[in-house]
Amino acid sequence: MASTLRSENAWHALTLDEMLARLNANVHNGLSASEASLRLIQYGRNELRPPAPISPLKLLFEQFTDFIVLVLIAAAIVSGAIAIYSNRLEDLINPIAILAIVVLNAFLGFFQEYRAERSLAALKQLAAPNARVIRDGEPRRIPAADLAPGDLVELHSGDIVPADARVVQSVHLRLDESTLTGESNPVEKSALPKLDAETPVDARENMLHAGTIVLYGRGRAVVTDTGMQTQLGRIARLVSEIKEEETPLQQRLDKVGQLLVYISLAIVAIIFPLGLLRGNSPLDMLLIAVSLAVAAVPEGLAAVVTIALALGLRRMIRRNALIRRLPAVETLGAATVICSDKTGTLTESEMTVREMAFADRLITVTGEGYTRRGEFREDHNGAPQNSNIASPKDDDALRLALTIGALCNASRLVEQPDERFRVIGDPTEGALLVTAEKARLSPEELAGEFRFVAEYPFDPVRKRMSSVYARHEEDASDVADEQLYTFVKGAPDLILPLCTRVFRNHRVQDLDEKSFAALVETNVGLALQARRVLALAYRRLDNWNKTLAPQAVERELTFVALAAMMDPPRAEVKQAVAEAQRAGIKVVMVTGDHPGTAAAVARELGISRDGDELLTGSQLNQLTNAELEARVERVSTYARVSPEDKLRIVRAWKAGGKNVVAMTGDGINDAPALKEAAIGIAMGVHGTDVAKEASDMILTDDNFASIVAAIEEGRAIYDNIRKFIHYLLSGNIGEVLTIFLGPILGLPLPLLPIQILWMNLTTDSLPALALGVEKSEPNIMSRPPRDPDEPIINRALTWLMISQGLFIGLVQFAGFLLEYLVFTDHDIVRARSVTLYLCILTQNLHAFNIRSQWLSIFRLGLFSNPFLIFSFVAVVAITLLTAYVPIFRTILQTEPIGLREWAMIIGLAILPVFAMEIVKEIRRRAMNIEQ
Ligand code: ADP
Ligand code: MG
Repeated sequence: MASTLRSENAWHALTLDEMLARLNANVHNGLSASEASLRLIQYGRNELRPPAPISPLKLLFEQFTDFIVLVLIAAAIVSGAIAIYSNRLEDLINPIAILAIVVLNAFLGFFQEYRAERSLAALKQLAAPNARVIRDGEPRRIPAADLAPGDLVELHSGDIVPADARVVQSVHLRLDESTLTGESNPVEKSALPKLDAETPVDARENMLHAGTIVLYGRGRAVVTDTGMQTQLGRIARLVSEIKEEETPLQQRLDKVGQLLVYISLAIVAIIFPLGLLRGNSPLDMLLIAVSLAVAAVPEGLAAVVTIALALGLRRMIRRNALIRRLPAVETLGAATVICSDKTGTLTESEMTVREMAFADRLITVTGEGYTRRGEFREDHNGAPQNSNIASPKDDDALRLALTIGALCNASRLVEQPDERFRVIGDPTEGALLVTAEKARLSPEELAGEFRFVAEYPFDPVRKRMSSVYARHEEDASDVADEQLYTFVKGAPDLILPLCTRVFRNHRVQDLDEKSFAALVETNVGLALQARRVLALAYRRLDNWNKTLAPQAVERELTFVALAAMMDPPRAEVKQAVAEAQRAGIKVVMVTGDHPGTAAAVARELGISRDGDELLTGSQLNQLTNAELEARVERVSTYARVSPEDKLRIVRAWKAGGKNVVAMTGDGINDAPALKEAAIGIAMGVHGTDVAKEASDMILTDDNFASIVAAIEEGRAIYDNIRKFIHYLLSGNIGEVLTIFLGPILGLPLPLLPIQILWMNLTTDSLPALALGVEKSEPNIMSRPPRDPDEPIINRALTWLMISQGLFIGLVQFAGFLLEYLVFTDHDIVRARSVTLYLCILTQNLHAFNIRSQWLSIFRLGLFSNPFLIFSFVAVVAITLLTAYVPIFRTILQTEPIGLREWAMIIGLAILPVFAMEIVKEIRRRAMNIEQ
């Protein structure tokens, strides 16, 4: 630490003005955009460790490191050397061609993998953190990496500090610096003028450090150091690289790959002596055996998995779901429960105050959207003649209520050119600000009357917020003095019990039991109409100091009004809920809102159905974990819960071991629940950095419907990975069988090494890729979630692959036999030519079979996967080219074949398609699936 103390960047030891001068910074307008980009070039991006670039050379090299490929290369080189040594140059063609194919294969693999890795890296960039910054006097959200020294940043609770910065404004800023210091007690931060230069890092009260968490309060700070220059950067230099995470599926596939290597070694072990017995030279046999082994191992598997994942992730982004941790893609497809927030996720979150309920009257507020247009109408206890309040801000009670709403508020409005407001901050608070604007009660006017003193920010556990203001007043003795007030807003069921008085008929009266009961009833009535209700209250304070806990000021309050907001459910959510339920996924609402509001919204959206239960946070606290586990499946709505309750709910669902839980969250306290859930989902728009950091997936539009879309994509990705594994393995079983049968039956090899390699190239790469981008099957969201413990190659798939492989192998071998024994008299060159083309065609047609295990390819639409059509046409064209251009025939050692042969090839190659169509029909009948 000593070295950092003496470092030149002792920003904490400067006065504010010195600091600003040295950084050429401005505490009001921040940097200009042009200045910021200049500095970004000068100081570099605000990144700890720039993402390691993918090294193309390394990737290319990796393509050759496969053991079997190495053996093949060695064998080819040896046989080439022998050809040269014995001066039989025509024998050089074969080894050279083999090497060429190996190189071609490697390049193909390289390009696939390089592109896939690059697009994965690009996707990861999207999930990088943001920062709030003031530039040119305007608040902006920019990628944290784009911060430069001198930037003015804004911080709120839940933010992760994006760079080292000197505090210039602090409203109870309190930080968790444990990432840096290991000390988990919250640390107060303020804009102290100047600290002693020797102050250690963990005591620099006027500095914020990158990577620490704002627990509480809000503030502004000027960036002093970025990237590796930050305190975190100094530590990061010492910490070694974190290893990339493979998904469980990728790990399992690695195992499958290993297994296949053993199988192919077994093939070598069998076929090699068999060939020797038949009198082949050992080197020839080695080439044959190794080529076969190469054909048996689907080298492309890992690359195709990466590609399928990358493409799937891109589709998810288009549907507003950003994956942060790759394994989540698989887990998503197996999700059985979604626990979702209500406000903002299930609802629009464009809130509008519709009613203001006072002790003596109800005022309705009109006007759609966030504009000043709207009126206040008075409803005198159900009297028919509702009248407009001409000058709402001159109505004492209304003015008081609007003042509390506007001043006990951490958000603000920005007026846009079309006179609409944009809310910066919490939509609940935005609604109150808009209502004040409708009464022409502007922030400027209020600022002239009240001076801000302190704030107790909103806290989802306390479910309220209060602020302290001073007002210039003259007391009875005409002495001008400042009077302190606390303004409180929050959940009515928690605020009303704190009220002892009520503002009614232009004055403050005692709150008797009868009025209290009436207010509680009004609150419930509004909640049952799906309104989000806040109580507004205040208290005169005799004195205030910063040691006072919120409980000390939030008592003996004077109740003023209830503000009831409409927060309509998002239009697309009802359908998404139904879709999730059809897909066997239970939807659960978890909200901090009132049970009445929660129940009304849950019913409207179809989340709560007959027989479902609702639990409130306090009821939840009465239950033991075992009791909760016993009930959890029946509860579809949780109301008035706090973030800790979410953790219990996730655990209860997980307890049986049968459920895969997705849980949404946005607040700083939601992080544990997000981590505990199989799929933690953070809100992209309103979520805190802390929640995002703890999550597996971010919703860029905060919309519940995007979760369901992501699950659908997750299922589709999994399906597609299964499809090309199915394709590659069944095809390879067929290939191996075809070639095996020759020597076993005492016949020559149906294919030569070079032909085996060529066939492998034309059957493994393109069609497998095309299957990786297959559209999801129509029933993807009408079947239950997959069992997360089931292996990707399950029993049913194993049998299907083996039986299809055997069938294909027999068909291909039949082609060889017919040509070799029936149509010609032991013309081996011609028989091998036929076998080669037959193998290529059969397997490329088989790719169409794989598209669905139950649906006929005609039902799916023959042309509905254009990539597969493209791959098919391309392979056929290449095959014809190699069949009719002499040079390729020399390389592949084939001879021209005629129409009769082609007719036979086509006739045989189509057989597996017919067979599979029949099997599918039988399956559909057995499972009673509608076509
Ligand atoms: P949810 O997001 O599930 O609706 P929250 O935890 O945000 O729940 O809020 C819980 C309760 O706290 C709300 O029902 C409301 O009564 C109150 N509340 C919400 N936001 C604020 C705020 N900014 N200030 C004061 N009280 C609030
Ligand atoms: Mg909320």
